[in-house]
Amino acid sequence: MATEGIRPSNFIRDIIDEDLKNGKNQGRVHTRFPPEPNGYLHIGHAKSICLNFGLARDYGGKCNLRFDDTNPIKEELEYVDSIKEDVRWLGWDWEDRELYASDYYEQLYEYAIQLIKKGVAYVCDLTADEIREHRGTLTTPGKDSPYRNRTIAENLDLFQKMRAGMFPDGAKTLRAKIDMASGNINMRDPILYRIVRSTHHRTGDKWCIYPMYDWAHGQSDSLEGITHSICTLEFEDHRPLYDWFIDQLGIHHPQQIEFARLNLNYTVMSKRLLLELVKENYVNGWDDPRLPTICGLRRRGYTPESIRLFADKIGVAKADSTVDIALLEACLREHLNLVAPRVMAVLRPLKVVIDNYPDGQVEELEAINNPERPADAGTRKVPFSKVIYIEQDDFREEPHKKFFRLAPGREVRLKHAYYITCQKVVRDDKTGEVIELHCSYDPESRGGGTADNRKVEGTLHWVSAQHAVDAEVRMFDRLFIAEDPSKTEPGRDYKANLNPSSLEVLSGGKVEPSLKDAPVGGKYQFLRQGYFCVDLDSKNGKVVFNRAVGLKDTWAKIERRR
Ligand code: ATP
Ligand code: MG
Repeated sequence: MATEGIRPSNFIRDIIDEDLKNGKNQGRVHTRFPPEPNGYLHIGHAKSICLNFGLARDYGGKCNLRFDDTNPIKEELEYVDSIKEDVRWLGWDWEDRELYASDYYEQLYEYAIQLIKKGVAYVCDLTADEIREHRGTLTTPGKDSPYRNRTIAENLDLFQKMRAGMFPDGAKTLRAKIDMASGNINMRDPILYRIVRSTHHRTGDKWCIYPMYDWAHGQSDSLEGITHSICTLEFEDHRPLYDWFIDQLGIHHPQQIEFARLNLNYTVMSKRLLLELVKENYVNGWDDPRLPTICGLRRRGYTPESIRLFADKIGVAKADSTVDIALLEACLREHLNLVAPRVMAVLRPLKVVIDNYPDGQVEELEAINNPERPADAGTRKVPFSKVIYIEQDDFREEPHKKFFRLAPGREVRLKHAYYITCQKVVRDDKTGEVIELHCSYDPESRGGGTADNRKVEGTLHWVSAQHAVDAEVRMFDRLFIAEDPSKTEPGRDYKANLNPSSLEVLSGGKVEPSLKDAPVGGKYQFLRQGYFCVDLDSKNGKVVFNRAVGLKDTWAKIERRR
């Protein structure tokens, strides 16, 4: 895309440039994307993925895909597989560096032994609740654990017994001995290991002690030779702890750099909340096109290019902010405008009979596929015949002043075809509803013009009834009605802000015959209606389309107003 390749400078690049200038890390740039496999990736992760892999690409470095799999209770292989699929789909390649914190369990255990031997880690018998009580608060210091002064020999013995499975779950922990009065609560003797009997998706039942995330993460980075360990702002307060571990162990010291996480309005992004929406069937699975998950966006019709463009446009910053979801939509529009063929589809059909068109005649009219790229997108044939469908909305019996489409006695242009004039309206006897129009056409107007150059106001899309393909069209609206879904009345949660009409299914759509064998994932601009993507539910001759995004660029308007 035009915008791809433009790399705005940012504070992370400044740090890397400076490091390279000073010869730090022998000129290496090595980043990583470190997901915990406890859910599907979302657009926030995409920001981190594009940042980390993008830096490696631009500096001729490497980026690892590392699973921080330290919590067997919440992690599953299904999540590992989906994460790999999503990162690959976004266009990134970790080559042979698919890595796991669980691969370092033995090494991490050795590191823990080293800390015990240095007298800076101890086995503690306090329960989880007691540890919490001892921890203190932001304004009051914590209290030392009564087990803090065990001897090194006793600690070594107990820790080995923890690993050997000689204590029940939760009976003991291994803790770092740092400072219970530290102003930084993360430094108040954090837990390194807990006892949990839970089968791990990779190590099975080999371990009954598991490292805490904080203990595993920094050492994993170090073991992998990561130079720039980029994470979100909430880890800023953890950095002193990570530094402490690395310094105690005397191992390679990656530089942690924090940036602001992506927040989007009208969306929730935490995996915990997404999991809840999926598990409690508020949506139809992780790939529900209304979710901000990568697989949901993919199913909706997003392209990797559009998401990378979005990541480039939002950039990275040090301060939290919320991005307007209209920007994400604008990025998709920008890409699909170039690549999606423009076709005709009638979502809510109204039958039109062209009385003076010869019975049985079919004309194959030439239609241009994409005026943005007329030469390489080419043309196709669209059949025209006596009975067609137009959009119900494109007809008004009593048009208001600004309504320029079809009305009794009025002439309009049919895209790629003829001018027609509405002669008669047929209604349902019982309901009074308009069910059919009778029109005449001007044979001279083929292709959209006439010799007398008379003006018509409206141009309508249409499909030939006998050639049309049945379609179901899923129209999506925002999943939440509130800009910030977490803002609710007291006693209610974000689910109170779910949009009750976020999905509207139009089951009687009619699309032009070129879409008969449209592949799943195929993306099209339906003239005058927006961008649509073929859904995997298509079957038995019925094509299912998801509306990815409308045509109107609300973002462009916002930009102009600024
Ligand atoms: P969540 O908070 O949504 O549950 P997480 O941070 O727990 O996500 P991880 O699997 O730990 O999920 O995240 C992997 C990487 O993605 C981390 O480096 C994290 O900082 C980054 N990341 C997660 N959410 C966002 C976001 N909204 N914006 C930018 N980066 C993010
Ligand atoms: Mg996390």
